[in-house]
Amino acid sequence: MRDVIVGIDLGTTNSTIAFVRDGRPHLVDVDGSPLLPSVVGLAPDGRLLVGRAARNQRHLYPERTIGSVKRRMGEDLRVPLGDDRYTPVEVSAMILRRLKAAAEAELGHGVHRAVITVPAYFSDAQRTATREAGEVAGFTVERILHEPTAASLTYVEGTERSGTFLVYDLGGGTFDVSIVRVQGDLTEVLASHGDTRLGGDDFDALLFDLLRRRFEEATGADLREDLRARARLTRAAEEAKIALSSQAFVQVTEEHLAEVDGVPRHLDTEVTRADYEDLIEPLLERTADSVATALREASLLARDLDQVILVGGATRTPRVAALLQERTGRAPHLDVDPDKAVALGAALHAARLAGEATGRILVDVTPFSFGTSYFGTLDGWPSNDCYKVILHRNTPLPCRQAELFYTVDVGQDAVDVTIFQGDAEDALDNLQIGRFLVDGLDPKARENSPIVFDLALDLNGILQVTVTEKHTGLRKHVVIEDAFRRLSPEELVAARLRVRAALGDDEDEPTGPSPIGAPPPDLGPEDRAAWAGAVALTEKADRLRADLDGADRDEVDELTEALRDALDAADLDAIRVHSAELADVLFYLE
Ligand code: AMP
Repeated sequence: MRDVIVGIDLGTTNSTIAFVRDGRPHLVDVDGSPLLPSVVGLAPDGRLLVGRAARNQRHLYPERTIGSVKRRMGEDLRVPLGDDRYTPVEVSAMILRRLKAAAEAELGHGVHRAVITVPAYFSDAQRTATREAGEVAGFTVERILHEPTAASLTYVEGTERSGTFLVYDLGGGTFDVSIVRVQGDLTEVLASHGDTRLGGDDFDALLFDLLRRRFEEATGADLREDLRARARLTRAAEEAKIALSSQAFVQVTEEHLAEVDGVPRHLDTEVTRADYEDLIEPLLERTADSVATALREASLLARDLDQVILVGGATRTPRVAALLQERTGRAPHLDVDPDKAVALGAALHAARLAGEATGRILVDVTPFSFGTSYFGTLDGWPSNDCYKVILHRNTPLPCRQAELFYTVDVGQDAVDVTIFQGDAEDALDNLQIGRFLVDGLDPKARENSPIVFDLALDLNGILQVTVTEKHTGLRKHVVIEDAFRRLSPEELVAARLRVRAALGDDEDEPTGPSPIGAPPPDLGPEDRAAWAGAVALTEKADRLRADLDGADRDEVDELTEALRDALDAADLDAIRVHSAELADVLFYLE
């Protein structure tokens, strides 16, 4: 029997156990889900409950339920559970035993060795307590591993690969950011910073307050003292928050939330993603400050980072990735589920300790971003070519995302929808993949009437675009079959010319070569590729020649001129011959 070492993420909100099977990390389901709520409780009949059952009874029997015990690790105290009192180490051991049993059931044999993760900011006492919890649960704890290090390992292939990672971990109640360097078997947390009192629960609290105020404004009812209504509103706030991660707006309805003068009153209000993002922006700004501090402490600049990794359920909020991209210039990796990255990495580390070969976790992600053009301000001027990304590249497939846009004119009866592939700020620098008109909009609509753009992309690159006039429900649905198409050679040439013209390259070289036109329209795909390659070579030669002198420069000039003549004459045989010659020479000179 193989001696498996499991990896365990012992989290504040949820815990997860994983092991490597056939070189790939695998999460174990506990009660049907890999996320086991880190909650322990005592049922009315005295049975010990661990996980979802305990979490479900938390509001009913708070005195018989313990959650978030991770916050107490390392403290010398006992928490009450019914008539008994337990140390945080014992409560954590109960969670670990539940995970252990699930792994054993799946493997069909005993599991005795584990790697357990802890936050990078944990003190010695907290680490020791975690190790003890593992031992009490019946494990030999092979290693206590930092959570950000574990998350980074999910992105490192094999054992030789290295990289510098920023791991941004936003859970339910805590936030931390770490800079991790991985070099083969050596991993190191260079800096770590955070806030142990900031997380997704605070976003819920802000939404809760917004809903409570709106209800009070509409009905005059003050819910602050009404426990039952507060509990319902708390749940509604979290559900709305989660919905707003993929929807542009959410309708929150709670029937009979309170009575005013004996009359039942309902909550029925709409929250847009923009409303929500305004609420949470100050909290996200605080996390951005921590990111800057961690980078400073590691003596690094954002451009030194190889990857930005998101961990924790609250990082599913789209504004988080957007803010990190703004601040670091790096598109965060979204391809490993943020709830699971730590356990998966712990399993990879555990397998290495057991001497097994492992590979990177591979999931299908979209290789491109997709978005639409809109009317706004570009480079300080009003423009129809502003661009907004709706689906971000590196998002796991299938994926779906909606955004709100607004009409510009009163009585505007149509919108011209253009869908692009790419990330450039100017829509025209992206690849247009679809265009259609949505007409018949409500002629009586006010200015700034909201229009919902919903993009859904599947594994085969089929992109479904649905555009809906929000208040009438009028919609148009279009399917783009080949959204993963790349620029064709003609489009490449055209784009290069556009960029050169925009940069004024031609004006810089008034006596230089004349720009090369697009290829003749009747060329087949191979000839078009040869044409595009030749154009690229002449441009490269132009760039390199400035640094050459003597015979080298003469040779490059001669070959470039021959290739230009071939392009002018659209002589494809000559284009191929001269391209090969020029490519050879440039290869040696570069
Ligand atoms: P964790 O501690 O990593 O399990 O994260 C839990 C937090 O993530 C809670 O505040 C959840 O409400 C939040 N969360 C889970 N899913 C989403 C989602 N799709 N969008 C936003 N927040 C989420």
